[in-house]
Amino acid sequence: MPETTLIIGAGQAGSHAALAMRDAGYSGTITLIGDESELPYERPPLSKHMLTAADEPQVPHFHAAARYDERGIALLRGTKAIAIDPAGRTVSLNNGEVLPYTNLLLTTGGRARRLSVPGSEHVLYLRTLEDARRLRSKFRPGARIVCIGAGVIGLEIASSAVARGCIVTVIEPGPQAMGRSLAPEIASWLAARHRENGVTLRFGIGVSEVTAEAVLCTDGAWVEADAVIAGIGMERNTELAEASGLEVEGGIVVDEFGRTSAPGIYAAGDVAAFWMPRLGRRILLETWRHAQDHGAAIGRVIAGQVTPYDETPWFWTDQHGVNLQMAGTVEGVASTVIRGAVGVTPFSAWHLNAAGQLIGVVGIDAPRDVRAGQTLLRTRRPVDPALLADTSVSAQLLSRAGS
Ligand code: NAP
Repeated sequence: MPETTLIIGAGQAGSHAALAMRDAGYSGTITLIGDESELPYERPPLSKHMLTAADEPQVPHFHAAARYDERGIALLRGTKAIAIDPAGRTVSLNNGEVLPYTNLLLTTGGRARRLSVPGSEHVLYLRTLEDARRLRSKFRPGARIVCIGAGVIGLEIASSAVARGCIVTVIEPGPQAMGRSLAPEIASWLAARHRENGVTLRFGIGVSEVTAEAVLCTDGAWVEADAVIAGIGMERNTELAEASGLEVEGGIVVDEFGRTSAPGIYAAGDVAAFWMPRLGRRILLETWRHAQDHGAAIGRVIAGQVTPYDETPWFWTDQHGVNLQMAGTVEGVASTVIRGAVGVTPFSAWHLNAAGQLIGVVGIDAPRDVRAGQTLLRTRRPVDPALLADTSVSAQLLSRAGS
């Protein structure tokens, strides 16, 4: 009997896992199950080009349908997995079918966290292509758009909405933009950039009510709105795993090979809380690159290439025509070195821990700096801050610093 692998979740992680398995020589059957009717697609354009383009752009599919056929990947669209039986090694679908598996990969991702205040039925979200289409229809010149949350979604939407001529307000209870990932000096620069482009930013303020026409802020102010969009984080789709008795702690618990607590069941991407050997702890990541790399890595594990996953976190965002990339983290930062001058692109911020090791780098229109930073993050050797700040030292030479 040939092996059978089922992949639940046809997003970035699941789609890349399926192809990576074939590339690694997997000869069993592969079935990729997704609940959206659309062919699997890229999500990054949904908050950017899909919203800014004057005419609706083509859907950014990963591959044409024929490619899945060519690679021997059965794609079940508009199909939901509703139960897993780990003992019997089967998955039940919402169409009544029960599929057996040798290996099961869970790449169920997440959904937009819902705002819970009176009137929140008026709030829109952005996670899927359908969501992006709904937002597009609201982005008319002069439309008043309120974004709740100044994370990547809220700020990318704000940037896209002003580009379409909308009047945009962002409301964020925290003190700064992109609080999870940016140091205050870079966050202040980013906020200034939004303000220069006409976005009203209100920090330190929450939302207590939403109506069909306005948002009531916690300081008592009403902000009129033709559309209200919340980008207040994501919630992982762990319900199926939990109901099947898998260990879940924030995400589905897996080791560095993507293995869950149940034999033959793996998890990858946004939904996985994975062991990272380099850090010596389990982490959760919610980025495009991670979903792709983790999905592919765990696909290769299933295909027999059992190599631990240990990639450096990296993401990018485009706002008001500027590209911001970040590698590593800002957690545990003891000092920050600025290379160049904040506000004069290109520039970058290098975060060091108390031991002088690089833990993260943020580049503004500075992809070379971020690439050099990724190399340094892998070596973990202490780096001379003066060298990092010296723009006469090329990024290429920097990547050899500390060696
Ligand atoms: P996010 O980056 O976690 O930002 C959410 C923001 O909303 C945070 O500033 C958060 O503040 C704030 N917030 C939380 N609860 C709130 C509430 N009840 N009312 C008002 N504000 C609240 O999440 P996101 O922007 O929604 O993005 C969703 C997911 O998509 C994330 O996984 C993100 O990484 C991913 N994404 C990535 C990209 C990219 O890589 N370019 C682009 C878009 C989306 P606190 O931090 O103070 O809680």
